[in-house]
Parts: sequence; structure tokens; C-alpha cells
Amino acid sequence: MRLYRLFTASLFLAAISCAQPKIPKELIQNDGLSSAKAPTAIEKPNVIIIFMDDLGYGDLSSYGHPTIKTPNIDRLASEGQKWTNFYTASSVCSPSRGALLTGRYPIRIGLGGIKERVFFPKSMGGLPASEITIAEMLKEEGYKTGIIGKWHLGHLPEYLPTRQGFDTYYGIPYSNDMDAVKGWNLTNLLGVPDINKWNVPLMENESIIERPADQTSITKRYTEKAVEFIENHQADPFFLYFPHTMVHTPLFAYEDFLGTSERGFFGDVMNEVDWSVGQVISTLERLEIDRKTLVVFTSDNGPWLMMRDHGGSPGLLREGKGTTWEGGMRVPGIFYMPGTVTPGTITDLGSTLDLLPTIAKLTGAQVPQDRIIDGYDLTPVLQEKRKGNRNHMIFYRKQDIYAVRKEDYKAHFITESSYKADNGRQELEAPLLYNVNHDPSERYDHAAQMPEKIEEIIQLAISHRNDAPNMYSEMDKYPEEKN
Ligand code: MG
Repeated sequence: MRLYRLFTASLFLAAISCAQPKIPKELIQNDGLSSAKAPTAIEKPNVIIIFMDDLGYGDLSSYGHPTIKTPNIDRLASEGQKWTNFYTASSVCSPSRGALLTGRYPIRIGLGGIKERVFFPKSMGGLPASEITIAEMLKEEGYKTGIIGKWHLGHLPEYLPTRQGFDTYYGIPYSNDMDAVKGWNLTNLLGVPDINKWNVPLMENESIIERPADQTSITKRYTEKAVEFIENHQADPFFLYFPHTMVHTPLFAYEDFLGTSERGFFGDVMNEVDWSVGQVISTLERLEIDRKTLVVFTSDNGPWLMMRDHGGSPGLLREGKGTTWEGGMRVPGIFYMPGTVTPGTITDLGSTLDLLPTIAKLTGAQVPQDRIIDGYDLTPVLQEKRKGNRNHMIFYRKQDIYAVRKEDYKAHFITESSYKADNGRQELEAPLLYNVNHDPSERYDHAAQMPEKIEEIIQLAISHRNDAPNMYSEMDKYPEEKN
């Protein structure tokens, strides 16, 4: 029997044996988190999450890129923690963002697509109101909350960030290549930057304030808004979620940055992103709140390789955005908070899923107790460089488990290249097995030599799957047949 059918069958058995299953206590993976105050000296630290779009594992100088220079981001990596086994919960935008904000795999929150993988301008769905975001969690603790940038979790009023715990919103609500006026094709995507090719809206709270958004100045304006938000809330505890529109193709950079990088246009855009991070950090320092603000820098998924040199780089990892190979979901993960985050390079497993419980621990907030949370508290690593709590990662594509990593080993059950590529879905009769610490490029299959390791990983996958049933897909809600 093929493995994915095994998961489906075991799920079916679970469903018929118990109509209204209760969540076993041990599945709430919050490692004893409670409303008790975290053991940090900082009362209610501020939190900033800088979330890049389609930035690959190899796109920072601190992660090995030879010609991109990112001194401001690299400083966070060297004075804070640089994680080298850090994963997103999806290889594409919308589910990755939902997972970061809720600490739950996309399949639990209506974001495991059946036909579609992300939201489009015609979509009628979004992140369900019943989900609890980091913003909602922190509002309970009196935090001021803002989002600047790309939301991509539903653009109809009932799904906007202002309905999911954010006091304010400023940004382009979905991907910057959507609403293509002149056709969606590589000629337009990789051609001369022209904001009129993309009729994407710029929103402030629940209103459209500009259309098409002038993407040439979008990173500059997002950054000015971020600095203003920090200044306005310097005396409050605040949560700023800062998901950039860049470096998703089509690329745009402000004129000051054009022609400034050895890496070409993509490098120019990276120079502006790095400048933006520098502006955020220098604002914290000027206001003397840098030691009471956790800054996280990461990316929603790997590089969009079909965009050629307008897309990023996975470095030494295999494949990119859209896939469950390492290049699709392993991303830079940087944590910075002088005096609280102990500097170092961390090889423990971590995930964007872990941000919600980690932030809860640092702020004294309550992790939702009425649902399964897939994230783990990373504070033992961040504060004391103790062993991390995460030992596995599940790699979903749409509603199916394609691969599972447990400790050093990753087994693939289904493989598939990036969309629009030629290698279609392959449901494997026998899994592939890679030691992704020895072999991050996933070249050398050890399956034949290690059947017991594969069995162990299959058991983990089945046990996870029994508690993660397929849900309806919010991403497949359309007013009528699409197109
Ligand atoms: Mg993306």
C-alpha cells in the first residue's frame, strides 16, 4: 500500500471510531507553558517579526551568499542567534503565513488547499476568525499591534488583519504579481519594472488608498511606517508584524538602490531590504528599547527558482519555493534581543510554528489551550543555548504529507518539483531517506541501509496524521468557476 493511502486509511478509522474525538492532553505541545510569567528579566518585551517573501536560505551574506551584502541583517545574526535548521510550515505564501501567526500546521486552519495553494484576488476565503493569532494572544496582555506589509490571508473585509487582532494595517494584501494587467508571464515579470503592469491595491486598515500601488517605493514606505509605529508605541508593549512585499517577483527597488549591488537587480532589492532592517534596529537603539525588543528575521518560503536571476537562491539546499525539498522550506532564522538572546549559531530544529509559543513564554501570554498547537517553546535555546524542544518537522504540500524530518533524517513519501516544472507528483512505493545534516543537498539516499529509521519516521507520520485530519480548504472558495 502506498504511504499516503496508509495515512488516509488510518485517518478514516480514527474518524469512524470516535465521532467527537477529544484532544489528548499530551498533544498540546506547549511544554508546560501556562500563564505563569516567563523567566526573563524583561517585563512584556516588544516583539518585531520581519518576514521576507521568497527569500532563500542562500540569500544573505551571513548564510553564505558571495555577492549579496547584508551587513545589518548579518549583525543580528552575529550578535543574536543564527539558526541553520529553521523551517517554514509550508513552501508557499498563504499557508506559511497562517502557520506563523497561529502556531498550527496549515491543514488545521483551513489553509491546506485542495485545488489552490494560496489566496488569489478572486478568493472568497481567508484565515478563519476562530483561529487565534499572535496579535490576538498579545492583545490580551495589553499589547499594541500593527502589521505593515503583505497579509495574504484573505482580502475581503471579514478576513483582514484588523479582524485578526491587529490594531492597524498598512500594505499590499496579497502577492505583488497578482492582478496582472498585461498578462502573467515571464516577459512581464522579468522585464523593465513598471508598476502599471500590476493593479495591486495598497491598503490602510480596511480601505484601499492607492491602486496600483507604487511598488517602486513600497519598501521605503513600509519602513517609514514601521519606524513611525515604533516611535508611537515606544512606551507601550508592542507587536509589529512586518511582512515585506519584496523579494517576491516582480522586483522593485527605490531609485537610491538601483545599480548598487554586484548581484544585479535582485541584489539592489536586497540592499534596500537590508537598509530597512538597519532603520528598524537604529530606531530601537535611538529610543533605547533595543534590549527590551525581540526581533525575529525569517522568510515565508524558499526562492522562486523559475524567476531565474530575479528569484533568490537556496544556497546548498535542493530545489526551492513550492516544494518539500529542503530549498522550499528551510530558510534563514535569526533571533536578536541583546541581553536576552545568547549569541551563537544554532543547529537545533526550529520552525516559524514555534514563534507563537516562544513569544508567549517571553511575554507571559497564554498559549491557546483549547486546540492543538504545533509549535514548541524555543526560549531554552534562545536564552541559555540549552537543547531545543523540537525534534521533528512535517512537510505538507496541500493536504498531503510529502516528507517528515526526525532529528537528522528526512524521509520523502511523495516528491514533486516546483509548480510549472516538469517533474510531476511521484507517490513513492519506497521512501527516500537523507541525513540532512550530513547532506543538506539531499543527494545520497540511505533508505536501503536504514529500514528501521524509515519505520520510525512512518510511525511518527501516522501518529501525527491521526490528529491532523484533512479540513475543508478556505483557498478553494470562489464566487464561481475561476477564470
Ligand atoms: Mg512567498
